[in-house]
Amino acid sequence: MVAQRIDGKVFAAGLREKIAGQVAALKDEHGITPGLAVVLVGDDPASQVYVASKGKQTVAAGMNSYEHRLPADAGQAELLALIGRLNADADVHGILVQLPLPAHIDEAEIINAIAVKKDVDGFTVANTGRLATGQRAMVPCTPLGCLMLLRDQLGDLSGKNAVVIGRSNIVGKPMAALLLADSATVTVAHSRTKDLPDVVRGADIVVAAVGRPQMIKGDWIKPGATVIDVGINRTDAGLVGDVDYDSVAQVAGAVTPVPGGVGPMTIACLLANTLTACCRANGLPDPEGLTL
Ligand code: NDP
Repeated sequence: MVAQRIDGKVFAAGLREKIAGQVAALKDEHGITPGLAVVLVGDDPASQVYVASKGKQTVAAGMNSYEHRLPADAGQAELLALIGRLNADADVHGILVQLPLPAHIDEAEIINAIAVKKDVDGFTVANTGRLATGQRAMVPCTPLGCLMLLRDQLGDLSGKNAVVIGRSNIVGKPMAALLLADSATVTVAHSRTKDLPDVVRGADIVVAAVGRPQMIKGDWIKPGATVIDVGINRTDAGLVGDVDYDSVAQVAGAVTPVPGGVGPMTIACLLANTLTACCRANGLPDPEGLTL
């Protein structure tokens, strides 16, 4: 058996098309254009690539993109003042601070300064708490994209055994909260987990968010399981995921490739969250098919 390849690139393109259609309708019917502000501090090359790509796709969806680039030695107060201005700016519906921030910056204080309604990354304590308690939240983009792929692949996730490998605040924990909200039976594994291959062998759904190239092997996988690979690892052989695609594809029912799986979903979900934030800010119903 060879697993189905879950094409995140095609799924994300469909999502972006849907978003662009709804953005155009919002302009026509209400004269409103959603706006996303992205804040980049310093000159980390990977972050520059992400920010450029986010800006390009925001504009392609018909939204306004506002880029704020600060030097690597920008201070806490300067950054807080910028967030304050963006919070007060009615043309800005979403604010994203590109992580990681330089070491001298208190990242948590900066993130939590973002107005909850504009927190399109869903990283503020308020949005995290809302997600954990089942209240309407802005859901972090990468786990949101993973959940969309899983629902599309499997339909109802209720009662399925899900193993999330990784417990970061940006991927693993919110992913676990989303799967739990969909009534999956969720295990969160991490670097201290004992007998990880055995834990993974019980899973109908595996989400790998570890950051270790090709760590998850085919003989860890229950036949027919659905495997979502969040990992992005730069190696001499190019970009690879946390999943050893070739061996896993011999056993799994479906698996996402890297690149072309979760990656494109993340930015599409950022656009979806920006449109959602704009609708909510204007007292309009949530956009169709873009929220949970
Ligand atoms: P972090 O480094 O913050 O977290 C990694 C997690 O993996 C930690 O919880 C860690 O456990 C766990 N871990 C590390 N080694 C092992 C091991 N040997 N066995 C089991 N668990 C282990 O990473 P992120 O969550 O930020 O990102 C994970 C991956 O996803 C990275 O490759 C990143 O590049 C990628 N990513 C991709 C995105 C996309 O758009 N596709 C977006 C965001 C991230 P512990 O907590 O015990 O240390």
